[in-house]
Amino acid sequence: MTSQVIIGNWKMNGLVADARTLARAVADGVSSDTGPRVVVCPSFVHLSTVAAELSGSAVALGAQDCHHEGRGAFTGDISAPMLADIGVRYVILGHSERRAGHQELDEMVRQKAVAAASAGLVPVVCVGETQDQRAAGQARDVIGYQIEGSLPQDFAGIVAYEPVWAIGTGQSASIDDIADMMAFIRAELARQFGEGGKTMQILYGGSVTPRDASAILRVAEVGGALVGGASLKPESFLDIVRASA
Ligand code: PGA
Repeated sequence: MTSQVIIGNWKMNGLVADARTLARAVADGVSSDTGPRVVVCPSFVHLSTVAAELSGSAVALGAQDCHHEGRGAFTGDISAPMLADIGVRYVILGHSERRAGHQELDEMVRQKAVAAASAGLVPVVCVGETQDQRAAGQARDVIGYQIEGSLPQDFAGIVAYEPVWAIGTGQSASIDDIADMMAFIRAELARQFGEGGKTMQILYGGSVTPRDASAILRVAEVGGALVGGASLKPESFLDIVRASA
């Protein structure tokens, strides 16, 4: 069985010293090569600092976005080859905060996933419906379209299901809702990607805490967790890591 993946998304938090301390604590707390794969995703400016702290540890480095082109006149952007060059192995793409705050549409996310994969990174593509879409009974349609539009045909990365209404709210989706959406996403991946879609890893994200992690991580089809707020507290994050199968 593929091991689960627990990813910490640090978002736009902390200064260099905080990133160093947090990375050190996570690196020290994840010692074995059994258990889940553990990834932390600091902000761009903290990547090199964190890379140095993680060196020789079982924890991998991830980034929170990349540009869809490999190089060129794109002021302020960061390319996938630049990330790979400094030791990044994973990249979160299409997070709802980027879809909403930077107008990232499915097609852009798809291009980024292509760029990431060709630089040797593992793309972690996020999908998720808003509260209004869920209330209108559109959750499945929205997720189906996002999968179709955001994942390239030869996608070999990770999908993260993050209902927008559960992110940063302290209210994770119910176990029943997670189970229902996971089954739907698995069926959609199998329908759209054939054999490859049957084994693609699917993570749940949205207010995962040590309290509910073990129940969430035992839901069928859940291949790990994408953790925001709780990943900023080393003990909470390590408890979630330990809750993984
Ligand atoms: P949260 O964030 O755990 O703070 O809800 C998850 C995410 O946005 O990836």
